[in-house]
Amino acid sequence: MNPLLQTDQLPNFEAFHVEHIVPAVETLLSENLAEIEALVSIKEAPTWKSFVEPLEQLSNRLERAWGPVGHLDAVKNSDEWHQAYSDCLEKITDFYTQMGQHQGLFKKFQQIAESAEFEQYSLAQKKVVENALRDFRLSGIDLPKDKQSEYKVLSQQLSQLGSQFGNNVLKSTQAWSKFIENEEILAGLPDSAMGLLAQLATQKEAYQNKKGWLVTLDFPSYLAVMTHADNRDLREEVYQAFATRASEMAQDPQYDNSENIEKILKLRHEKAQLLGFEHYAELSLATKMADTPEQVIGFLRDLAKKSKPQAEKELATLTAFAQKELGIDTLQPWDVTYASEKFKNATLSLSQEKLRPYFPVTKVLEGLFTITETLFEVSVKEKQGVSVWHDDVRYFEIMDAAGQKVAAFYLDLYARENKRGGAWMDSAISRWRHPEGALQSPVAYLVCNFTPPIGDQPACLTHDEVTTLFHEFGHGLHHMLTEMENFDVSGINGVPWDAVELPSQFMENFCWEREGIDQMTAHIETGDVLPDDLFEALQQSRGFQSAMMMVRQLEFGLFDFLAHATYNPIAPQPVLELVNQVRQEVAVIMPPDYNRFAQSFSHIFAGGYAAGYFSYKWAEVLSADAFSLFEEEGILNPEIGVKFKNTILAAGGSVHPMTLFKAFRGREPEIDALLRHSGIKAA
Ligand SMILES: [Zn+2]
Repeated sequence: MNPLLQTDQLPNFEAFHVEHIVPAVETLLSENLAEIEALVSIKEAPTWKSFVEPLEQLSNRLERAWGPVGHLDAVKNSDEWHQAYSDCLEKITDFYTQMGQHQGLFKKFQQIAESAEFEQYSLAQKKVVENALRDFRLSGIDLPKDKQSEYKVLSQQLSQLGSQFGNNVLKSTQAWSKFIENEEILAGLPDSAMGLLAQLATQKEAYQNKKGWLVTLDFPSYLAVMTHADNRDLREEVYQAFATRASEMAQDPQYDNSENIEKILKLRHEKAQLLGFEHYAELSLATKMADTPEQVIGFLRDLAKKSKPQAEKELATLTAFAQKELGIDTLQPWDVTYASEKFKNATLSLSQEKLRPYFPVTKVLEGLFTITETLFEVSVKEKQGVSVWHDDVRYFEIMDAAGQKVAAFYLDLYARENKRGGAWMDSAISRWRHPEGALQSPVAYLVCNFTPPIGDQPACLTHDEVTTLFHEFGHGLHHMLTEMENFDVSGINGVPWDAVELPSQFMENFCWEREGIDQMTAHIETGDVLPDDLFEALQQSRGFQSAMMMVRQLEFGLFDFLAHATYNPIAPQPVLELVNQVRQEVAVIMPPDYNRFAQSFSHIFAGGYAAGYFSYKWAEVLSADAFSLFEEEGILNPEIGVKFKNTILAAGGSVHPMTLFKAFRGREPEIDALLRHSGIKAA
């Protein structure tokens, strides 16, 4: 049997080969189609049992078979695998579009919604039906026939363009590297970074027999140079390579995404208008917690207005420091991270490298699990012998208070070649009750790109990396601690985009609290927890340049939203012009003309964040405000933890996020906690 189709067990990664992909997808899709036709041709009125349950079964099987294909494309990329994945992605998209425009299915769901039994449904069941009807309408079900096929073509093209965009970013990132034999050029880099660059060199055949270091555009390498390299020319060179990735300004311009961006924005606009929306931003909000484009733009501009004066002051302070202490006359974008690190060291006596020895991976994981266990009344245990896709990957199970397994997750921590950059959580298996009664427990993929262990030294994380880990684990908890049993609203399924970051950003808070830090630090040599002076410095560092960081995020969010909300199909505004316009309004650091950040902005052009990047800030307001209840009642207070679990985590996508938030917090969200946590004093 095709191993991809063995969906009654955990994925057997060793058994998957590229030639399994196409046959598996063809089998799945033809069986699903046949089953759906059989379901809609039943004469009797549909019931939950006879209609929705079999559909859930199909969704579940598709996720379990197709999920690993996309996952491996991200963590173990090869040209062959990516080709097969892309080919099938097209078929899968086609299938979903077809299902989304299936009159028979639509009618059955309408009948369900009008049936007598609907009133007896649980909130979750009702939500499943309501979401289905909403999505049907968004999929163009009410469109005339010719418009429906137009819609289908648009969706396919968009899905392909997104995949192409992401692949261009990956290829362009890999296309550039710089081999350095003279150690002096890398002066300033700490040992851990030098070790990483040496390791990168040995991974490339061309340099295996030479002594030297390889600078690449993978994030850990890029960041190490930008933060530590004393050599200003090197910083500028690496900055330029990074900032021009996937653009016509790149050293190798064959992966230019400029045209893809134009096409994507154009097709998205057409798609939105086809469905009767004014623009794509309005379409995006149809499934979000936020109500109107004006509300979102107002929200972003309000935060920008409150933060920009402080951001300007922060930049002025940094500029003065760089002139006086570093001899940098005009602070350039490639100086900002470097000068900031030096300034931080001078004023805060704190650097990521100083903290690193306190955060050995083992201790950090122990702390993460202890906090999780204390707050949510569960336990976390590693399980050996489970099939994985790389030796680094580990597998853990989560048990409830009675010792029953409730969930599991894969943990893939380190950066390596052919693994997509960044960090993310993805669903491997969703919580769901089988029609025969068995409960399927959820499984998550947790993927990061941390600096791998060098030689026999255990890996130690920077505080940033620790925060990232907690963030992704928060997504994981949302997916894993759900109590929903209906596939479409279980865990993060059905959660609006602008609420999905609530649990993840919420979890980050523990990395800034003494109670949390005590659980997750043990110096690699002495075993000491993070001492008070470093903890104080860490606290101060949280507010360090926080307004500058705030306006940076607002720049991304506002660019994304305006690009979709103000799109003019007759005379599209050049993307670069809009980028500059937004920068004039919001940003305090002006990059050089060659900067092409939009060309590698995968979140919005290859991911699901189109006209939705604002969600990060939106959810930060929610998460900061939710955490402030722990500040009031005790950071590791299990009573509040369980309340959080039982409302926000348990309900998944079954209840409107505003309702859940109010159930937990006792009132509507307020912006104060976020500004306070960020150390921003509103003018
Ligand atoms: Zn996230």
